[in-house]
Amino acid sequence: MTQSAPESIGRLVAAIVGEVNRRMADAASGGECEYGPDDGIFPTVDDAVAATQKAWRRYLGCSMNDRARFIAAIRATACEPANLEHMAVEAVAETGMGNVPDKIIKNRMAAERTPGIEDLPTDAWSGDDGLTTIELSPFGVIGAITPTTNPTETIINNAIGMLAAGNAIVFSPHPRATKLSRWLIAQLNGALRGAGAPEHLLTMVAEPSLENTQALMAHRDVRLLVATGGPGLVKAVMSSGKKAIGAGAGNPPVVVDETADLKKAAKDIIDGASFDNNLPCTAEKEVIAVDSIADLLRFYMMTFGAHEIRDEAVLAQLQALVMDGRHPRTEWIGKSATDILAGVGITAPPGTRAIIAETPFEHPFVQSELMMPILPIVRAANVTEAIDLAIEAEHGLRHTAIMHSTNVNALTRMGKLIQTTIFVKNGPSFAGIGIGGEGHTAFTIAGPTGEGLTSARTFARRRRCVLVGGLNVR
Ligand code: NAD
Repeated sequence: MTQSAPESIGRLVAAIVGEVNRRMADAASGGECEYGPDDGIFPTVDDAVAATQKAWRRYLGCSMNDRARFIAAIRATACEPANLEHMAVEAVAETGMGNVPDKIIKNRMAAERTPGIEDLPTDAWSGDDGLTTIELSPFGVIGAITPTTNPTETIINNAIGMLAAGNAIVFSPHPRATKLSRWLIAQLNGALRGAGAPEHLLTMVAEPSLENTQALMAHRDVRLLVATGGPGLVKAVMSSGKKAIGAGAGNPPVVVDETADLKKAAKDIIDGASFDNNLPCTAEKEVIAVDSIADLLRFYMMTFGAHEIRDEAVLAQLQALVMDGRHPRTEWIGKSATDILAGVGITAPPGTRAIIAETPFEHPFVQSELMMPILPIVRAANVTEAIDLAIEAEHGLRHTAIMHSTNVNALTRMGKLIQTTIFVKNGPSFAGIGIGGEGHTAFTIAGPTGEGLTSARTFARRRRCVLVGGLNVR
């Protein structure tokens, strides 16, 4: 059939627009992107989704053993010492957040402790009418939006879980982690190619941006959105009209009561609050201490590397430095305690890991998610009041809470009332993501949509297959 004039003009215009978009993307990257489609890096969202959709179709033909082999290749590549070092060093350099030793731990955990295909159990019924199974099947192409705070950890963690469940993934990394994300996607694709996987199972657009993330969220062929980031992002995916998993902000309180092992509590709190300079969404953000033990707790915290600010004027100066109204200033997020103290003219002794200060409950340091190693301490008359304040400070985000106590009733009361996805008892916050605590690791903790610490089964659909009148051998 011959094309009508409007049809052929329409096609021509679409081709020209596509080419202009491609060239604009090239120009926007300043010609700096050394990667291309062979590495999984595409100039436009349409190109990335189209390639990933094709990859998923081919992936359907792979066996579970194939999937296990591809995941093993990702784990091995991510865990190569040179790659662990590169990811940690470059993440700090590009995002300006966090510290190298802790990022090495986080990336290793993501590579080693993210569940693979073993996380996909099959349910079955058999009886007079035959055999029915419920199997966990892929969604198809997933759009995964990732944060600056765990740029490589989230890509590794999502890639393993999502590929295990049989999906292919278009990533939309944070624009401030573009260079490193491209490098990682290229490395992981190299590993997948070496293991014989279909090409383009993992892709991203060369220049991530808000517009590109919005285009990904609206794309017809993206069947599931997985968003790891702040409240604006979670709201955007939940309003997209697609199935969405939202892993959002937290403001984890830590309660310490008079029955706690105070020395251990102080160490755990400083370890957790200083981990990767307090970037993890799970990290201790404010301490609510029962009045009778608050002074001893502060003393122990100082022995474990906390610097205390007692002068109201210095506290106000610190607030003006790191906050703009009720929001943290981006340039101070994930900075070390010593850098922050230097910003207010204090030279901290080596080994200083956190800044502590007693504040009223209403103080913005308590109420806002700072993501820097500044830990306000609020006094409560008793454990009941401490738990009530912790619930209020968590703002119903249902993310993470920590408690140090040996009173089983108090621990139970806090766990029940605060309703957080993670509740750590008598340990540092990172025990809740499997670092020194039992259970698998996740860097996408879906509180708002309820999946909890995500893993392969979270990224799968339940499908029923029914064989009538056979294979019941009882
Ligand atoms: P962010 O929300 O600024 O960015 C996250 C991603 O979302 C980026 O890729 C960004 O480009 C994109 N984005 C942001 N707003 C958007 C919008 N309105 N529409 C479309 N895309 C949008 O977050 P960040 O600063 O990179 O990360 C820190 C935040 O993420 C903190 O609040 C932290 O608690 C949270 N976080 C949560 C988890 C979790 O598992 N729950 C894990 C890591 C980080």
